Amino acid sequence: MIEEILSNLYRIEIPLPRSPLKAINSYIIKDPGRNLMIDTGWNQKECLDAMQDGLNELGVDIRKTDFFITHLHADHLGLVTSLATETSTIYFNQPDANRIRSGILWDDLARFARLNGFPEKEIQEVAHSHPGFRFKGQGRVRFHVLKEGDTISLSDYALQCVETPGHTWGHMCLYEPRRKIFIAGDHILNDITPNIQLWSDEWNPLNRYLESLEKAYKLDVDLVLPGHRGIFRNHRERIRELKLHHRNRLEEIVSILEKGRKNAFQVASQMRWDILYDSWDLFPVSQKWFATGETISHLKYLEEKGTLRREMDRKRMLFSVN
Ligand SMILES: [Zn+2]
Repeated sequence: MIEEILSNLYRIEIPLPRSPLKAINSYIIKDPGRNLMIDTGWNQKECLDAMQDGLNELGVDIRKTDFFITHLHADHLGLVTSLATETSTIYFNQPDANRIRSGILWDDLARFARLNGFPEKEIQEVAHSHPGFRFKGQGRVRFHVLKEGDTISLSDYALQCVETPGHTWGHMCLYEPRRKIFIAGDHILNDITPNIQLWSDEWNPLNRYLESLEKAYKLDVDLVLPGHRGIFRNHRERIRELKLHHRNRLEEIVSILEKGRKNAFQVASQMRWDILYDSWDLFPVSQKWFATGETISHLKYLEEKGTLRREMDRKRMLFSVN
């Protein structure tokens, strides 16, 4: 499906089969010199087919196209390795590029999941089903690194880079001040809440995410072009809702822990999730994984605020209210 948004600016909807996200938006800006594609899809056949159909319909020559990728997740980055040619420039951010270079080691994630109470058998299932591992790009990608305030100019668009860490270490959006468009990646979505997960002890992503929301709030935006679902207006109203969502979730976690100390997996199993399964036990393992990662980011935030403390009980990390 193709939507013309503004002159020379299009959205191609790329399906994500069997994912609750349903699809990802790839944005194309056409230019007589070189086109720009923003985000791509998973590195698999259905995504590639949809992309090729869309490019044909738009008359876009992939050999004259550069890429901007908002963040490292496989639904945004994966397909670029099948689309880029020798002459392509792939714009990306430094923190996520570092992460890819050092390699996200499954063993490290599994160890951290175990510490947080994730059952051993289900950890092995995640390793085989996680789309981030199944549909990531192949081979080494040469990135052209951009940072805050850098501008990509083409057609009659001047796209400014806005660093918005939180959803990932280096998540980056693009802002066009004259047309007041904000290309948001997974920083702000309309019908769904961006997932803020934590699978290491290295940082406090929820804190960074809330700061990045404040940053986006200050921009003068008319139209948000998100990574998933439809484009929308009223970005400030949506940001207020997202902040409220996280505040509610933080309160929910504190009230669960007031009844006694628990590990992250146990906390996640008692939370209310917006998902079509009757009980936690019926969740597919990939959804338990997302839910637990989301819970850990909130536990970390509360711990750093001094609301919670953490102890080790033999093999597990347990959280309790201070
Ligand atoms: Zn993402």
